[in-house]
Amino acid sequence: EAKAVGRNGFRSYSPEMRTYNPASMSLENELRQGIERDELLLHFQPQVALAGGAVLGVEALVRWCHPERGLIPPLQFIPVAEESGLIVALGEWVVRNALAQLRAWRDQGLPSLPVSVNISALQFRQRGFSGFLAEQLAEHRIQPGLLELELTESVLMKNVDAVLQTLTEIKALGVRLAIDDFGTGFSSLSYLRRFPIDRLKIDQSFVRDIDSTPVNESIARAIVALADSLALEIVAEGIETASEVEVLKRIKCVQGQGFLFSKPLDAERFSTWLLNRARSEIVMA
Ligand code: C2E
Ligand code: MG
Ligand code: MG
Ligand code: MG
Repeated sequence: EAKAVGRNGFRSYSPEMRTYNPASMSLENELRQGIERDELLLHFQPQVALAGGAVLGVEALVRWCHPERGLIPPLQFIPVAEESGLIVALGEWVVRNALAQLRAWRDQGLPSLPVSVNISALQFRQRGFSGFLAEQLAEHRIQPGLLELELTESVLMKNVDAVLQTLTEIKALGVRLAIDDFGTGFSSLSYLRRFPIDRLKIDQSFVRDIDSTPVNESIARAIVALADSLALEIVAEGIETASEVEVLKRIKCVQGQGFLFSKPLDAERFSTWLLNRARSEIVMA
C-alpha cells in the first residue's frame, strides 16, 4: 500500500525510495504511533574517570517499549526513523526528555551530571536546531554546559561549511560537542582542528579486546595522542573488562564508558546505581 504523505506530513512511501519493504513500512507506521503514544524511553549509561571511578556524565540512549514486541533496541528502529524523517520528532523527544530527566534528578537532590545525547544527521541539519536547543535548555532550566551532543564523523563531513555554521551556533549557546564512534568514519584532520569539538569518543571496536589485540591498542593510542595535541577530551566506549581499563590507562585515556561500569539503565535504576556508588566510594575512602 503506497501513500504519499503520512499523518505528520512525513513521506511514507514514494517511487524514488530505494526499495519497498513491507516489514519496515509497518515498523515505520508503528514507530510514528509509538512516538505519539509515548512508547519511547531513555536508558542512561555512566561515563567515569578511569582512575578513581568518579562519575563524570551520562549518555542517554533511546529505547522503544513496543506494546507487543517488548523493548526494541535503537539499532532496530533508528535506521527506519532516519529513512522516514521520523528521526526529527524522535530526536526532539530525546533532547526534551533527557533534559527533563536531568531537571528531575536535580530537583530530587542528586548531583547534577552532564548528559550526552546522540544526534542524527537530519536532526542536526534541521533549520532552527540550535534555537530548539536553546528553548529546551531554558524550559528545563539546565545550564547549557550540562548538555553534550554526540555527532558521528559522517554527520560532520557532509556540507562542511553548513556544519561549521551550525556547530558554531550550538557552541555559542555553551552546549558541548563530541564526536561519537571516532575512528570508524573518515574525518579530515584539518576540520577536526576547525570544528569547535570538546571530546572524542573512541569507538568500541578499538576498545574491545584492546588488551589482547595490539592493533587496537595502536589505534587507540594514536587517537589519544591526536586528542591530546588538539586539547580535546577523550572517552573510550564499550569497556567490558578490568584489563581493558589497564591498557587504556597506560595509553593515557582518562575517561571511559561500558558494561564494566554499568549497562544503560532506566532513570530509576540509574539513580539507585549512582547513590549506591557514592555510598561505596565513601566506604572505600
Ligand atoms: P552509540 O551512541 O555509540 O552508543 C553506544 C552503544 O554501545 C549503546 O548501544 C550501548 O548500550 C552500547 N554499549 C555501551 N557499553 C557497552 C559495552 O561495554 N559493550 C557492548 N557490547 N556495548 C556497549 P545502544 O543503546 O543499543 O545504541 C546503539 C546506537 O544507537 C548508539 O550508538 C547510537 O548510535 C544509536 N542511538 C541510541 N540512542 C539514540 C538516540 O537517542 N538518537 C539517535 N539518533 N541515535 C541513538
Ligand atoms: Mg553515542
Ligand atoms: Mg559510539
Ligand atoms: Mg553509534
